[in-house]
Amino acid sequence: MLVCPVRRCHLPLVRDNKRVVCPRGHSFDVARSGYINLLQPQDRRSKHPGDTAAVVQARRRLHDRGITEPLLLAIAEMLHATCNDIVLDAGCGDGVYLGTLAREIGFDAHGIDISIPAIDSAARRYPKCQWIVANADRFIPYADHSFSIVLSITARMNAVEFRRVLRNDGRLLVVIPATDDLIELRGAGRDRLPRTVESFAPRFTLATQRRVTTAADLDAAAIQDLLLTIYRPKHSRSLDAMRVTFSLDLLLFRPA
Ligand SMILES: [Zn+2]
Repeated sequence: MLVCPVRRCHLPLVRDNKRVVCPRGHSFDVARSGYINLLQPQDRRSKHPGDTAAVVQARRRLHDRGITEPLLLAIAEMLHATCNDIVLDAGCGDGVYLGTLAREIGFDAHGIDISIPAIDSAARRYPKCQWIVANADRFIPYADHSFSIVLSITARMNAVEFRRVLRNDGRLLVVIPATDDLIELRGAGRDRLPRTVESFAPRFTLATQRRVTTAADLDAAAIQDLLLTIYRPKHSRSLDAMRVTFSLDLLLFRPA
């Protein structure tokens, strides 16, 4: 169900030793760690090149502290995934949510991100999932209706492509930062809920929503890591240990 990312090609890709090829002869390497790089030349000039290696490592250290555990639990509860599901995580980053859920539930898992360091990290940590470097803003390199679940966890969203690759009876889970997410570091955020719901209409309708909020006491090193992962921090100087709020809005959509 993986298809060629070349514009106007989109024929099925098949594995051929250390690469994947389409019937027209477009060919893409499979990396040593197992991921497949489907980036196109125009994607390499993307305005959103994705996380750097330093950001990937910082985010990984934060996950390893267990901070994101309550968020993962809430996502799992809302998804109700089973081992029969086929799941795409679009903008998966280092794959911590998808990789952990796939390991626990046993579904067929596919993660896409534009960042090579992020996908390389995901492929090393969760070798049983399929990891793809691609620009999901432009095209998700999978055949129509490939997935029973599509995830978008604090990532960029592409309603048209999400709908195309999702089955008609599938579901879409979109996770966005809530207004009080990291409020100690960047002040109150804007409420993204109405605009997010609007951006998925008319292709999707909102089925359920919930907010999950947790807080963690972080030392100075963790605060530094957190600042690295934030696009526009309120503070740029180094900060002492402090308690930080993590808060996400979870939106479960169904195809309209
Ligand atoms: Zn092709």
